[in-house]
Amino acid sequence: MSETEKPLNFLQQIVADDLESGRIDALLTRFPPEPNGYLHIGHAKAICLNFGLAREYNGGCNLRFDDTNPEKEEERYVRSIEEDVRWLGFEWRAEVRFASDYFDTLYQWAQYLVEQGKAYVCELDAQAMREHRGTLTEAGVNSPYRDRSPQQSLDLLEQMRVGKIDEGAATLRAKIDMASPNLNLRDPVLYRIKKSSHHRTGDKWNIYPSYDFAHGQEDAIEGVTHSICTLEFEDHRPLYDWLINELPVPSTPVQYEFARLNLSYTMTSKRKLRRLVDEERVDGWDDPRMPTISGLRRRGYTASAIRAFCDMIGVTRSDGVVDVGMLEFAIRDDLNKNAPRAMCVLSPLKIIVSNFADGGVELISAPAHPDRSELGERELPFTRELYIERTDFSEDNTLSRKKFKRLVLGEYVRLRGAYIIKAERVVKSENGEITELEVSLVADTVGQSPPEGIRPRGVIHWVSASHSKTATVNLYDRLFLSETPGSGDQDMTEHINPDSLQVLENCRIEPGLARATPEQGFQFERVGYFVADRRSHSEQHPVFNRTIGLKDTARR
Ligand code: ATP
Ligand code: MG
Repeated sequence: MSETEKPLNFLQQIVADDLESGRIDALLTRFPPEPNGYLHIGHAKAICLNFGLAREYNGGCNLRFDDTNPEKEEERYVRSIEEDVRWLGFEWRAEVRFASDYFDTLYQWAQYLVEQGKAYVCELDAQAMREHRGTLTEAGVNSPYRDRSPQQSLDLLEQMRVGKIDEGAATLRAKIDMASPNLNLRDPVLYRIKKSSHHRTGDKWNIYPSYDFAHGQEDAIEGVTHSICTLEFEDHRPLYDWLINELPVPSTPVQYEFARLNLSYTMTSKRKLRRLVDEERVDGWDDPRMPTISGLRRRGYTASAIRAFCDMIGVTRSDGVVDVGMLEFAIRDDLNKNAPRAMCVLSPLKIIVSNFADGGVELISAPAHPDRSELGERELPFTRELYIERTDFSEDNTLSRKKFKRLVLGEYVRLRGAYIIKAERVVKSENGEITELEVSLVADTVGQSPPEGIRPRGVIHWVSASHSKTATVNLYDRLFLSETPGSGDQDMTEHINPDSLQVLENCRIEPGLARATPEQGFQFERVGYFVADRRSHSEQHPVFNRTIGLKDTARR
């Protein structure tokens, strides 16, 4: 049973019933990605569903690569997919499987269908095949090759296999019903000729099984009990069942469909994401703006936040678009609870504390997290020269206290966790830019309420000028400005946000942050949630990526 009080979703209900009634002894699901790109947030939903069911009902889940399209598939995608599934917190049953492991068996089953008079080699080209297929309102027309003898089909199939027939010149088709109202049953293609090298079987095969011929049979070979896919395969289910029924398969899997995840402002198609990579519109598949699992990870999303998101959206059979704000909520909630606090000044303005000893250092302790004392304390060196955020100071002391809860000339503000200071005097360069600010501190105000008559406008963050380190901070924003990128006649590239990345090179971080381990997440107080970049962060050259802002300020 699920751990929460939530009612079972329809798939949990089906599995529970099947175990109860004895239709199955044990649950076996599978996650079947095609290794033609990196996994994205939509796949995370399918992963959490399949591996999650296996976990909840003491079953197993296979990881099976559906590698039946040799042109597009690569070994590096296999590795990235394995890494992503593990990172999300799941482990597949026994070894990884590949559709290509079953090519011999599938070929024997193709021959078997031909021998039974249930499949034939068709020599119509793609165009002619389309014409014979009919439409939703019109029955199709039988192929002139439909009634050739099984022996002739067997011979041709063998010639296809060994490469004696050109690509496109022949296919193996199931012999079902050209008048079926379901187009998938109008003699669907089971094998096509492709003379490309396969990432695992090399040049052994010149023909490759179609998705429909491969998928259910692989499920049956593995003993998958519940083959869960997205709704667009609902119309394929009769074919799935037909093949399972006609072939001497060792088990009887059943296909179930659920609604795919569509997320606002987000592209969830490997093919389109690959285009963004190929056209160098992003910095690779794991660019922190990408909705890939590796991109989200590099952006600072945690596996638990992604799992929580998948749990939140649930599993149904009705299509819709999920607000990306829900994903953002999940990570913000996780980081708010778990991320240590730290200070980082993005755009530094130097301030000189005139009444603090030159060369002096006062160590001020601050909690790593306001509500979690077990995370310990950090030490912030307070020195005569500090940095504050340029945007936290204004010369204009007529600004209302309500609107500008920061430092203005002649008034007070509290430095987070430290002293209350007063802005005394600005130092400007020849062109009028403020280069420094002279301030004075109010004695005995660390951890103390302000003395009578002193009213700080607010609290601002700061770091020591001499003890802080320089860091690069990547401010990421949404990659697309449109809620439905690439919809209608528009190309998705027209919807790309030109300001989705702003790189700040001269940020100043509190000293301990330089020692962050890559992938460690923080709340930079008053600024947002950030993560040490897993690719480039080092103590010598700290690099942080903005995961998400502190509040939901969505322009929705
Ligand atoms: P893409 O179009 O992005 O390549 P796909 O469905 O072709 O997606 P596969 O590698 O075949 O990608 O997908 C593996 C599994 O993930 C399938 O079972 C598929 O149903 C599921 N899946 C893919 N996209 C989504 C999504 N947006 N929401 C839920 N499940 C998805
Ligand atoms: Mg696919």
